[in-house]
Amino acid sequence: MTELRIDRERLWDTMMTIAKIGATAGGGSRRLALTDEDRQARDQFCAWMRESGCAVTIDQMGNVFARRRGRNDAAPPVMVGSHLDTVPTGGRFDGVIGVMAGVELVRTLDDDRVRTEHPIEVVLWTNEEGSRFSPFTLGSMVFAGQVSLDFAHARGEVTRPGSGLTVKDELARTGYLGAAPCATRPVACYFELHNEQGPMLGETGHEVGIVTGSFSARYFVATIRGDAGHVGGAPMDRRRDALVGASRLVLEVNRIGRTYGPDARANAPHLELFPNVRGVIPAEVRLSCDVRHAEVATMHRMEAELRDVATRLAKELGMAIEIEQYYEFGPIRFDDGMLALLRDTARRLGYRWRDILTVAGHDAVSMNSICPTAMLFTPSRADGVSHNEREYSTPEDLAAGTNVLLHAVLAKARVIESR
Ligand SMILES: [Zn+2]
Repeated sequence: MTELRIDRERLWDTMMTIAKIGATAGGGSRRLALTDEDRQARDQFCAWMRESGCAVTIDQMGNVFARRRGRNDAAPPVMVGSHLDTVPTGGRFDGVIGVMAGVELVRTLDDDRVRTEHPIEVVLWTNEEGSRFSPFTLGSMVFAGQVSLDFAHARGEVTRPGSGLTVKDELARTGYLGAAPCATRPVACYFELHNEQGPMLGETGHEVGIVTGSFSARYFVATIRGDAGHVGGAPMDRRRDALVGASRLVLEVNRIGRTYGPDARANAPHLELFPNVRGVIPAEVRLSCDVRHAEVATMHRMEAELRDVATRLAKELGMAIEIEQYYEFGPIRFDDGMLALLRDTARRLGYRWRDILTVAGHDAVSMNSICPTAMLFTPSRADGVSHNEREYSTPEDLAAGTNVLLHAVLAKARVIESR
């Protein structure tokens, strides 16, 4: 079985076919969760998997499971997958590689008439990015029992607050409000192949990253309350402009991110401004921010510093600043047995590999709570940019990661017969 290899050209073709759905002028893709573009990409995935003879099931969260039968079809499935939704100016690789690697893997097994003991399921998770509906990795979190289906269904649009549209509405509209319950069920193990979304593999000349775990991250909404006023009438020294307060906080978040070494990150990427009209001094700002670090203790120090800074700024500016945590993850440690298998497989296939941590959250983080889980990274070229239309990986990069995935899946699903 060591000789079995995926078809590099065919894998690249499927990637580029998906990239055309919602293609942007800048060479990327725009498929916000549960939009028409996302629906088209999902339909394409379902069509391909049905052509391969898989049974396609959609659950109440719109997660799609394409199942290739095992000899013992009652055995828990070996699962691989990721997502096809993107950020507004997304690249062609983020998420897509994890799903298309599954498509290619099934085709390769069919070509070689490989039968496995366990069923294999390729899963497409709903709303991974969290751009349109927050929080991110929503579909996999419901599957893993971390948030309720009702909570997920009721999420409203971040991109158009007040539109009244919810996740459930858009699942129904796009035909992905499935009948299958979205609840934890036995899964033998879960693999996710993803692009690195950073420059490390490219810089160190590795073809495959074995993701041993994650950074620790905490996500907050900082609410800054000032006072509304007339932008003409109010003298400068009597204003309490919430956006000025938020701006000071953004600079502090950035400084904290730069203070704790190369393994630190801190972001303030989204704000909501009230009343957000031209004639009124902003009365309230809700700023999303996060701190992340490879060491959990350092992440806690970063959080403490953020809270201290907010208290100090509030006092200095005469405003109220409240910081509320809305999400956290890590430190995640992926399954030791799965990691050993991935390292052995990469070594056996002759790829240059290294261990690496993920800074970003992924569906694998949800799955890690219910079954043995591990991730593989494929290099991100173009200086490692991601969530950017310039995001790039080579056909060889994608093939290397998918070949390791293929043989790791076969080891877990247990080959009983092949041509
Ligand atoms: Zn992703």
